[in-house]
Amino acid sequence: MGLLSKVISQSAGMAVAARCYGSSGLVAQKWIYAKAFKGEPTAQNFRLENEELPALKDGEFLAQAEYISVDPYMRPYMMAYPEGSLMIGGQVGKVLESKNSAFPVGASIFGQFGWRTHTVCNPAGSKQNERPYVLPDFGTLPTSLGLGVLGMPGNTAYFGLLELCAPKQGETVVVSGAAGAVGSLVGQIAKLKGCTAVGIAGSDTKCQWMKQIGFDETINYKTDNIYTELKKKAPKGVDVYFDNVGGKTSEAVLKLMNLYGRVAVCGTISNYNTDIEKVADPLRQMVFKQLKMEGFVVWRWNDRWMEGIKANLEWIKEGKLQWHETVTQGFENVPVAFMDMLKGGNTGKAVVKI
Ligand code: NAP
Repeated sequence: MGLLSKVISQSAGMAVAARCYGSSGLVAQKWIYAKAFKGEPTAQNFRLENEELPALKDGEFLAQAEYISVDPYMRPYMMAYPEGSLMIGGQVGKVLESKNSAFPVGASIFGQFGWRTHTVCNPAGSKQNERPYVLPDFGTLPTSLGLGVLGMPGNTAYFGLLELCAPKQGETVVVSGAAGAVGSLVGQIAKLKGCTAVGIAGSDTKCQWMKQIGFDETINYKTDNIYTELKKKAPKGVDVYFDNVGGKTSEAVLKLMNLYGRVAVCGTISNYNTDIEKVADPLRQMVFKQLKMEGFVVWRWNDRWMEGIKANLEWIKEGKLQWHETVTQGFENVPVAFMDMLKGGNTGKAVVKI
């Protein structure tokens, strides 16, 4: 699948400093969590700052961001950080200078460096599940895939579906958030396992695209009655539900689960912008249908990380797994890309080209 290039021209209403070298070294630009999120993020939640970087010490390397990831988890996770913190997140970059032989100059790397243009990193000082790594050889594929199908979202789909849901040939797998980075892969992997894949997403255009990449049935949750449509489109009931959104969508899907169904709770984006006080209880179905439901965070499979990337890469090379990206241009537009993604502006993985 090709690259969908989406240029977002707003600059979040903020002045953008030029990338430059200061008197004692490189000056990195970084996006700061200026004001705690309340409801939907706005430009006021972010502030751009400069940071003069120190000279490298032994064991360190200097990376320049090429692509920065914007992901839903940033909305709830940042609530645990004080105002003034760096915006968290993964990026794919190039090593510009190095005093660490495992990260040679010119290497393409993945690092959880946050929303910043340049980073001095000492891998030995990183937590085990936050260690940077040199990207495997993607051949002619773009390195940005290290943030999507060949990175965290790809592994979320791969391990979350295969390990927690064990889909079997002939079963019906329902995926919410199905046109996104994780969901679009879950549906395709379900098809590779011989299942019927039903995807739920927020526009007819997304639903058409999901059909193109192999989903059997689609539902537009913004215009369709999910329960009524799913009853028609999954006439044998639902064996596996891979949940990316929670809320009313999940309430409807859970009612149609089959005996001994499996539910992977990957995310609940429908309530990321909301203070949850009163949530309707979808768990009633758990008891009577004897369902297995399990929440997970992809880092659980940290020790098998490259296995997931290699499996997805192999499927891409065999033409069995298609990927899609929504690419926003420019470091100044990272907050805009993030806000746009939370509103459903992306198909496939949302990334920012720096
Ligand atoms: P994504 O699906 O590429 O992008 C987010 C999408 O969510 C939007 O495009 C939008 O699509 C949809 N959305 C926004 N508001 C919604 C609402 N109120 N109801 C339903 N859908 C809504 O993002 P992703 O990276 O693949 O992540 C998908 C989910 O997986 C998120 O919940 C994320 O937190 C979770 N996740 C979990 C793990 C883990 O380790 N457990 C790892 C990665 C991601 P529509 O146009 O269809 O609304």
